[in-house]
This record gives sequence, structure tokens and C-alpha cells, in this order.
Amino acid sequence: MNHELSEKAKKLSQGAVIDKPGSTVETKTGGWKTFKPVTNYEECIKCGKCWAVCPEAAYKQNKDGFFEVDLDYCKGCGICAKECPKKCIKMELEEK
Ligand code: SF4
Ligand code: SF4
Repeated sequence: MNHELSEKAKKLSQGAVIDKPGSTVETKTGGWKTFKPVTNYEECIKCGKCWAVCPEAAYKQNKDGFFEVDLDYCKGCGICAKECPKKCIKMELEEK
């Protein structure tokens, strides 16, 4: 077996490597989700748990204290919906 890397392979960046601080924001991970979270703000108590548990840091707090998801970074895992104490986040099928 030939273990030499081709010139093309040598130019590829390593997968799953953060090569400089703060660079993850440049990689939008939202394109591969099937379901997206939708919040009913009438039920929300602004506790911030959705923000705290999201592995993609996709939630940001707005000026009114509510947490809004940036779908460019949400991968649709559903953790926020499962952990919301008020069950006011529903996962809905993403329309493409
Ligand atoms: S976890 Fe639920 S209740 Fe808490 S801020 Fe998020 S949406 Fe609102
Ligand atoms: S579905 Fe997953 S990735 Fe998307 S906002 Fe909720 S916890 Fe974050």
C-alpha cells in the first residue's frame, strides 16, 4: 500500500480542527438540519436554558430578554426543545 500523500491531499485542511481562536463562527453549520426550533414567546420565562444547553451557541438574547435562534448555526439537534422547562420550543420540519 502506498502511504505517500498526494500533493492534492497535502493541501486539504484537517477536519474538526479549529485552527485559530474564534474561527468557528465562520463555519455555518445550519445547512444540514431537518428540524428547526420554533419558540412560543408567550410561554417563555426568559430563563436562558435554551441558550445554555445549545451545543452550537446558536441562541442570542435580544433587547427584550428573549432568546432567539440563529438558524445559520442551529443543527436541529432538539436539545433546547427537550430541556426547555416551559416546553415552549417545538421542533418543526425545515422547509428547503
Ligand atoms: S428554555 Fe424555554 S423558557 Fe427558557 S428562555 Fe429558552 S425558550 Fe424561554
Ligand atoms: S436544535 Fe440544537 S443546535 Fe438548534 S438551537 Fe436547539 S440546541 Fe441549538
